[in-house]
Amino acid sequence: MTISETAPSLLGQLIAFDTVSHRPVMELASFLSERCEDLGFDVQIYPDPDNAQKANVVCQAGPKKTGGLIISGHMDVVPTEDQPWQSDPFQLTELNDKLYGRGTADMKGFIACTLTALARIEVKKLSEPLTLIWTYDEEVGCHGSHKLVEVLKKQPTLLPHEALIGEPTDFRIFRMHPGHVSCQIVTTGLAAHSSKPDLGISAIKRMQTILAAIEHLEADLQKEIKHQNYLERPYVTLNVGSIKGGQAVNIVPDKCEIILGYRPLPGDNPLAVFERLNARLQELPLPAGSLRMSLLNITPALHTPEHQPLEKVLAPIASHPHAGAAAFATDGGNLALLGIHSLIFGPGSIDVAHKANEFIERAALKKGTDIVEKVIRLRCEEPLAYF
Ligand SMILES: [Zn+2]
Repeated sequence: MTISETAPSLLGQLIAFDTVSHRPVMELASFLSERCEDLGFDVQIYPDPDNAQKANVVCQAGPKKTGGLIISGHMDVVPTEDQPWQSDPFQLTELNDKLYGRGTADMKGFIACTLTALARIEVKKLSEPLTLIWTYDEEVGCHGSHKLVEVLKKQPTLLPHEALIGEPTDFRIFRMHPGHVSCQIVTTGLAAHSSKPDLGISAIKRMQTILAAIEHLEADLQKEIKHQNYLERPYVTLNVGSIKGGQAVNIVPDKCEIILGYRPLPGDNPLAVFERLNARLQELPLPAGSLRMSLLNITPALHTPEHQPLEKVLAPIASHPHAGAAAFATDGGNLALLGIHSLIFGPGSIDVAHKANEFIERAALKKGTDIVEKVIRLRCEEPLAYF
């Protein structure tokens, strides 16, 4: 990468990789690996053991010791199908100083800022460690960071204890967010011809009693308020997002399935609600074996303590002096399992993310680049002044 390469031109290259979560991410992972190697990083690719098309990229520079900083972002983007795009979402398009394309805000814009900022810095001369972590499948449950953390727990690697995750926050600092847990509940019954319903057992009727129990739990959870000053909804929210059951109108259904998601609060055991619901369902008058509840995915909440060194660096340059809470989940919850305190802070707005005509303002890209450069210099070149 040459120093003359600007963040917008780099962003154009990043946008052109169609890294919608269900598609391969390897080409972008290789592109970023090469770029980071050129910049002076030692690069390690962590492939998904179950999917050769997916990999996390970890790039390390600076002395091998504790301290320093992680900068992280996800390489995947959300789908564009059935959205009213006015331009090709995978080709960067500029109009009135706004750069349009899928991932411009969430969050390839931040990756472009980081690589552009790094081209201005002599990475080989950093006095503190700097690690870049580029993940996959964040948008579908933070799977990439989950798998990375599983590997790193088994083969301990010296990593900085603070991370800047550049999700689009319009330069606000977020130090907490709820997580997300999804689970599947299946009821079984006995199929019969609907003209003789007494010979069968309806799995859908059994699911009705479960749905009623879930509604009671939801009402109870809404009374359990925490982090009121931070969260718009300071309680665990819960949603039955899908239901499937039965084959035909003239058959008593023998199977019904729901997928349920809830958002554990920062600092809570992410499985507490799962266990509570499981206990309540066990009390229902259903025969043994007619109900199965299983966990599908856990994205932990984020609960970074106040006034970490990185927060002190970001506060004077942020758009708001106090660290708040994001409504959306990030890779930060998984990184916390390695003892890493993350702050969510980046250019662009979450309000335009995941929609048609996603954009980032050219000025935000420039400001983001300058901020990333400043943060790296403060944390990895002359950190003593800030402790
Ligand atoms: Zn994102």
